[in-house]
This record gives sequence, C-alpha cells and structure tokens, in this order.
Amino acid sequence: MDLDKLTVNVQKRYRSLVESEADPNEWAYAWRSEYNRGGFKAVDFLMREVVTPGKCVGCAACVTICPVDVFDYEDEKPRSVREDACVFCELCADVCPVLRPTDRDLPTQIGLLEPNVDEGFGPYQYAMLARATPKAAIGGRGQDGGVASTLVIHMMDQGEIQGAVLGAEEQDNPQMGGAKLAQTPEEVLTCARSRYTYQPNTLALAQAMKEGVAPLAVVGVPCQVDGVRQQQFSSIRLDVAEWYRENVKLVIGLFCSESFTEAGIDNLSQRFEVPKKDIENINIKGRIEVKIRGGREEIVSLKDFREFARPACLYCLDYSADNSDIGLGGIGLHGWTFTVVRTEAGHRVFQSALAAGLLETQPLDAAPKSKDLLIKLAKYKRNRPLPALMPTLQQRQAEGNLDPKDYYKGYKKAPKAEQATTEVQS
Ligand SMILES: Cc1cc2nc3c(=O)[nH]c(=O)nc-3n(C[C@H](O)[C@H](O)[C@H](O)COP(=O)(O)OP(=O)(O)OC[C@H]3O[C@@H](n4cnc5c(N)ncnc54)[C@H](O)[C@@H]3O)c2cc1C
Ligand code: SF4
Ligand code: SF4
Repeated sequence: MDLDKLTVNVQKRYRSLVESEADPNEWAYAWRSEYNRGGFKAVDFLMREVVTPGKCVGCAACVTICPVDVFDYEDEKPRSVREDACVFCELCADVCPVLRPTDRDLPTQIGLLEPNVDEGFGPYQYAMLARATPKAAIGGRGQDGGVASTLVIHMMDQGEIQGAVLGAEEQDNPQMGGAKLAQTPEEVLTCARSRYTYQPNTLALAQAMKEGVAPLAVVGVPCQVDGVRQQQFSSIRLDVAEWYRENVKLVIGLFCSESFTEAGIDNLSQRFEVPKKDIENINIKGRIEVKIRGGREEIVSLKDFREFARPACLYCLDYSADNSDIGLGGIGLHGWTFTVVRTEAGHRVFQSALAAGLLETQPLDAAPKSKDLLIKLAKYKRNRPLPALMPTLQQRQAEGNLDPKDYYKGYKKAPKAEQATTEVQS
C-alpha cells in the first residue's frame, strides 16, 4: 500500500476520534491498531499533527525513543532528517504527550504510593517543605531548598545511580543551557538552580543509553516527565522502551507554569545594561527576581515579561509534574522547596536522604499560602482543553495571542473543543 496513504488514513482515524469526542484514552488506537499490520510512517503523522501546527512542547521523547535516529533536535523541537530510515515502529507517536493523555494505568506502572490523595496537584501521599542541611554540602547552590540536587547526589553516593539527566548552565549565558548527563556530584552541582528558559534535559537519555551509563535519575519539567513516562510505559514495547523502563530509577519533576524564550534573557540584559553572562540567577516569586554579578538585584513584574512566555507552553496541562516520583517547586518560598512525594521510589529516596541527615523539613503549615497557590495554579493548567483540541500556533498568531497564560484565562473549566484545524491531506 502507498505509504503516504497509510499515514493519511491513521491521521484521519485520529482526527475522527478527536472530533467525535471519543474518550481521549482511546485516541492512541488510531495508530496502535496499525502496529500489528506492520506499522506506518509515524514520523510523518507526528510532524503533521504536532510539530508543523506548532504544538510540540519540545520534550524530546520522540527523539530519544527512535531506535534508528530519524530525528535531530533543533529550536526546541524535533526535525525529521533521516526519514528514510524509519522502521515503522510507531514509537515516536506512542510516546508524544501532545498527541494524547498518558495511559490510565500509569499510576500503577510508576508505583504510586497507597493510599494517596489528589487535591488538584497530582496524586501524592505526603508533602512538606524541605531544604538541604549543611551536611548535604551543596553550598547553597540550590534554586530553592536544593532538594533536587541533594537527592540526586545522595543516589550517586549510595551507588543507586551512575548518572543523572539534568540541565546544564551555559558559561556565557547562565540562563540558558542544554542537556547534561552528570556522572559525579560535582557535575550535578554545576547544573543546580533553575534556568527559566527551555532546556531539553532528556536528550541526555540517548547519550546515557549509547554510553551504557545506567541506572539513572532524571530531573525535568512536567512535559519532560510525561515524555519519560511515555517512553518507559507506553504500550508499544521494544528494546529501547524496555531500556528506559529498567534504567530510569527516579524521576524528579519541577513545577512549571511556563518557561520563557531566549529573547527574554536578551531583554533583561538590555534592560539592565549588563552582559548576559553577568545575569547570575532568576527566580520567580510572583515577580521576577534577577540577581546580577556583583550583588545587584533587580525586579521585573511578571506582567511586564509576559511577551517572553514560550508560546508552546499553552499545549501543556501539567503544572505539578503529576507523574513524577517526587514533585518540587518554589511556590512563593525562599530557601525551601515544596516537596510532594508520590511513588514508592520517591518515598524510598526521600526517606533515605532524611535519615542520612541531608535534608530538613517543615510542615506545609509553615507556609499556608503555598499549598493554596499550588492548587490554584495546577488547576488552571489542568482545565485547559487537550492539545489536540486547541488551535494551532498559526491560528493563535493570526488572532494575535501567543501568551500561554492568557489564552484560556477566565475559563473555570475546559471550554468547548475548538474546531479541528490540522489539515488531513488525502
Ligand atoms: C522552566 C522552569 C519553570 C519553573 N516554574 C515553576 C513554577 O511556576 N512554580 C514553582 O513553584 N516552581 C517552578 N519551578 C521549579 C523551581 O524553580 C525549582 O526548580 C524547584 O523548586 C526545585 O528547587 P531546588 O532548589 O530543590 O532544586 P536544585 O537543587 O536547584 O535543582 C534544580 C534542578 O533543575 C534542573 N533545571 C534547571 N533548569 C531547568 C530547565 N529549564 N529545565 C529542566 N530542568 C532544569 C537542574 O538541572 C537541577 O537539577 C520551575 C523550574 C523551571 C526549570
Ligand atoms: S512534544 Fe515531545 S514527543 Fe511530541 S513531537 Fe514534540 S518533542 Fe516529540
Ligand atoms: S509549561 Fe513547563 S512543563 Fe509545560 S511545556 Fe512549558 S516548559 Fe514544559
């Protein structure tokens, strides 16, 4: 059969499931049903449904799952450069968090602790404020309480992992950076703190597989957490998926409202007349707090910075990294990390670091507003329609609203589905 026709048929089937308001958990059957018949060119489907309409959040899951290296990764998205190599495995479509929600059985697969509650920021068993103690020896390097770095270093010290998939800090522009496969505590510390731009941490998964660095911990924003989970547990199981399943031992998720574009960093550099390399840190606590080398501190209102919010972040419904083992955020706190323990793996590592005296904690009551704010922000993102039902980037451009935060402002629950917009060629 004509390959393109096969792909178009899958796309039509997918669109018809989306438009007929079928259960979103069934959408994946549009391509899974093809798998037993020898597959189809899923790379083309992914490009037409997700990347070309500008809906790709850049999680890199399609890139790192592809067993034959069809994709490069450029400008925060995949580029299909070796399409002829495609072996019709369908994995790239199966792992994409924009095409469909994660599978219903994911909580069981990731070992969610029982009992648990979901108050709006994802299922969890317990939560508290935490920060690194002097014994953790991270030297105040954390963005908030330094919990992410402390947990990863502790796992390395215990011999539980050989490497960690993190985001690196660029020397000449410390608010930008690429993926880093850290293999020593020192390397973990060079990655500490938050860059509020997009960093494709999970590209380092492919490097880890290639170099045989395993087991691993992964730290990432929610879109990356979902991409990793899809790679571990999506229903199409091939060796490459099994590798992630066996070797990713802990997934730490960072709360995330949105990230910002590189143009935002350029703007701060111009606004404060400092070279980018001197912008030491940015923290967001209801406003943007900028630390400049030499001790200078500046404030920018979030409203003033909205034009630099990353448009792709509209297509993301997860604030609190609901599918992580441990969710972490700064949520109005200074020097402490809001810590949400969700799974067996997260519980084990967190308790082990506590018992080793590397972390200290406070109950959530110590910052009563943080939990309420977390619930509010997480619900606000959750209530958006699924990305398949949202307008394309090009439509938003035509409407003149690229701000992910504003687009569905005012909606208390998901608005009615937008008309499907991606053209299905026939
Ligand atoms: C883009 C972005 C948006 C965020 N938005 C919010 C928010 O809206 N509300 C909130 O409460 N918290 C948010 N956070 C989380 C917060 O900034 C802290 O990361 C979190 O509190 C953990 O702090 P820590 O001191 O324990 O981590 P640390 O010990 O400092 O470790 C931070 C880890 O984050 C990784 N990292 C840094 N930058 C990035 C990046 N761009 N992408 C992926 N990984 C990265 C580093 O590799 C490091 O491992 C955001 C983080 C990022 C990166
Ligand atoms: S959202 Fe992730 S998996 Fe989907 S196309 Fe973009 S990079 Fe690939
Ligand atoms: S909001 Fe955060 S988690 Fe969601 S797509 Fe943007 S960077 Fe990723």
